[in-house]
Amino acid sequence: MRVIALDGPAGAGKSTIARLVSLKVGMPFLDTGAMYRGIAFAVLRDGIDQHDCDAVGKLARLTELELEDDALLVDGVDVTSEIRSNDVNAVVSVISAHSPVRSVLRDQQRLWISSHNGGVVEGRDIGTVVFPDAILKVFLTASPLIRAARRVAQSGGDTARVAESIAQRDHLDTTRLDSPLRPAEDSIVLDTSEMTIEQVVEAIARLFEDVELRMK
Ligand code: C5P
Repeated sequence: MRVIALDGPAGAGKSTIARLVSLKVGMPFLDTGAMYRGIAFAVLRDGIDQHDCDAVGKLARLTELELEDDALLVDGVDVTSEIRSNDVNAVVSVISAHSPVRSVLRDQQRLWISSHNGGVVEGRDIGTVVFPDAILKVFLTASPLIRAARRVAQSGGDTARVAESIAQRDHLDTTRLDSPLRPAEDSIVLDTSEMTIEQVVEAIARLFEDVELRMK
């Protein structure tokens, strides 16, 4: 399956870059973070305890997620902006650590990719666990300060608070037992701190061209 895996911590620019790369290489784009955010939204909607692994896992199995371009529908309701709220930010990494949730979403991600015949997939565990055979794996990173500043420029807020929320999520995402955030052994690590978006997109497109040439 033709998959480009783009992993990395919060605020590394993955979403923007994955969208642009997908346009450039003509492959569909899957934002797996939006799926975890959709389940976090449902947890808050239903008043479920975020730490209750069984209850959150059951909810993940029963919740219908639909990804349409940049929109996310949860049980038929468009929650595209709600999933970016501070409330969702505060619980998403806790519910993402529950294995039953990861197992449900992993299956949906694989199904999505097989029905779309490949794609550019953005997340935390795409190169390590979901698509270990991806033809290109890039791990995007940037210094914590720069990541916080980028998030503020994108969605507003106070830089110190945003930096704290990102650090908290990074901690939970890198220390969880099930598919923690880390670069795959065969991934290319790109520190984007000093790069423009265009430079990063160009670099990934070139890596992809090389891979395709080698596969011919
Ligand atoms: O990418 P985004 O910041 O929207 O992801 C939100 C959260 O979803 C992450 O902090 C992480 O806890 C979780 N996530 C994950 N695995 C993925 C994508 C996101 O655990 N593949």
